Parts: sequence; C-alpha cells; structure tokens
Amino acid sequence: MARYTDASCRLCRREGEKLFLKGERCYTNKCSIAKRVYAPGQHGQQKKKLSEYGIQLREKQKARRFYGILEGQFRRYFELASKRKGITGENLLQILETRLDNTVYRLGLATSRPEARQLVRHGHFTVNGQKIDIPSYLLNVGDVIAVKEKSKASPKLKAIAEITGSKVIPQWLEFDRENLTGKVVALPAREDIDLPLKEHLIVELYSK
Ligand code: SF4
Repeated sequence: MARYTDASCRLCRREGEKLFLKGERCYTNKCSIAKRVYAPGQHGQQKKKLSEYGIQLREKQKARRFYGILEGQFRRYFELASKRKGITGENLLQILETRLDNTVYRLGLATSRPEARQLVRHGHFTVNGQKIDIPSYLLNVGDVIAVKEKSKASPKLKAIAEITGSKVIPQWLEFDRENLTGKVVALPAREDIDLPLKEHLIVELYSK
C-alpha cells in the first residue's frame, strides 16, 4: 500500500503544529518545529491569508497526518461516519481512534502512531486471541488487544514499555500493564480525543 515516506517533521512544519510522529524525539528540544516555525519549502516563510476552503483543507490534512492516512481511505472513513447516527465529525474521529494502530499507540505499546503501525504490520498483536496485522482494523467495544506471547520478550517492546510507562490511558480503554493487554471498554467520546482538530471544518469541506 502507498504510504507517505517524506520526512515526518516536514509534515508538522507544514501544519504548524506538533503531530507527534517521531515518538520520544517529539518531547525533546530536538523537535524541528521548535527550531523552524515556518512551513517547509522555498515559500515557507511567506505569510499567506488562507481562504475558507484553504482553512478547511488544512484541517483535513492535519487530521490525515495525525493518523497517517491517505486521502482515499480518509474519504471512505468520512462516508462511513456520515452513515452512522450522531454528529458526522465526531463519528469520523471515533472511527479514526478505534483503528488498531491508533489504539496500540493509545495503550502505550508504541511511542508514536507510525511506530504502532509498523509493530502491527510485523504481527506483534492479537485481537481477541487472533493475530491481526492490519493497522486499519477497526475495534469494537469488548475487543481485547494483546501483545503476542512471543513478542513480550522483544527488546523493542520492552524499551517502549519503559518509555511509555507513565502514559495516561484514555477512559475508553483499560490496560493491564503486567500482561500487556488492553480492552476497549467504550467507544471514544469527543472529550476523550485530545487532538487539536476542528472536525466540523472537515465535514464542511467534504460536504461541498
Ligand atoms: Fe513533529 Fe515530532 Fe518532528 Fe517535532 S520531532 S516536528 S513533533 S515529528
């Protein structure tokens, strides 16, 4: 599957916000956005006034980049969200949050969403006892996510557990640190999602 592979920090600079794509580094003074607060590229330092469309587009791009999703799939999530009961923008964020890669990140089993995606692809997790290596797998209430028995001894997962040991787990998840097992206890509500996103702008963009 195609995937954006350009330098992650450029994406943060493009959006003018930390997207937390590089794990630990994002919390240190090595974070590039602190050093260069302008967009990348030749015209990055020019101040431009965005049109209404431009503002909506940037918000959608920011959401895509937070979760590491390509346009086609993001549009499909929007269509799914608009078919669900409730507020479309909130439904969209709920769908994005319940992806397996995001949930692994939220449980502290990875230091960033890109790392979570890689670990899922490498087959380190099970859902309800079955190996699942699809990062976009959508979880439901009651699903149990676990680190595979064989992977528990992996030095990489041990190092991650040390880094994320004090991470606050969102209310919609339960986590058993000893057994490296998490459970979806509710669907995430808007207030559980701490990302600086104005989802109504994304809805407006796609509703044109
Ligand atoms: Fe973004 Fe992290 Fe790079 Fe900072 S270090 S610019 S938060 S990816």
